[in-house]
Amino acid sequence: MIELRTPREIEEMRPAGRFVAETLQAVREAARPGVNLLELDALAHRRIKERGAESCYIDYHPSFGASPFGKVICTSVNDAVLHGLPHDYTLADGDLLSIDFAVAVDGWVSDSAISFVVGESSSSGRAEADAKLIRTTEIALDAGIAAAQPGKKIGDISAAIAAVAREAGYSINTDFGGHGVGRTMHGDPHVPNDGRAGRGFPLRPGLVIAIEPWFLETTDEIYTDDDGWTLRSTDGSRGAHSEHTIAITADGPIVLTARD
Ligand code: MG
Repeated sequence: MIELRTPREIEEMRPAGRFVAETLQAVREAARPGVNLLELDALAHRRIKERGAESCYIDYHPSFGASPFGKVICTSVNDAVLHGLPHDYTLADGDLLSIDFAVAVDGWVSDSAISFVVGESSSSGRAEADAKLIRTTEIALDAGIAAAQPGKKIGDISAAIAAVAREAGYSINTDFGGHGVGRTMHGDPHVPNDGRAGRGFPLRPGLVIAIEPWFLETTDEIYTDDDGWTLRSTDGSRGAHSEHTIAITADGPIVLTARD
């Protein structure tokens, strides 16, 4: 079922979006060489407790999961791209890290993800390729948001994302994509990262969705790590992921998880 939110409800969703944005910023600042992924998870967990927010991940236990997720952020490093389960790993200079974070504040969920290179990687031979991959997910996200206008369709968002990926030379895996966001983290409609413009569910004012392009450098195939969660590229190439939760209004999209 697809639920539309009133302008007042969209206003009520803003604190969750702001908290998600601020926490991602804090985690990014803490993610330096020598820092363990478990420390980043603990930092986010502390912030959740202080804020009185509720993690969408910690008890998350879908049919494909071996057990509840047990952590509050996803940390996907290098060849990992989505659903990275934080584990005992110390970040190194030049690691490509994606952080995904979703919580409820006052009963409303927001969901956002960022990717960045840890440390001063400019000396690494990978710097240019990583920057392009990350930048492409950000440009695709911006293009998807720009397409999220009232009167358009979900397929317009999908087509805008896919056009950016193809232009940059990346292929697209549509197994995982964006989704409705509201009282829970994953609702209808599905927002695929590829599709046909003018098709799909109409974008009406009040629709709140997460848009989340993710690409791998040289493949579109993934496999699940032995931890039962982390999704990695089959060829070892790196991945990046950018996500915002947006509300469609009569005046256009509002990015609820916008960072300063
Ligand atoms: Mg997310």
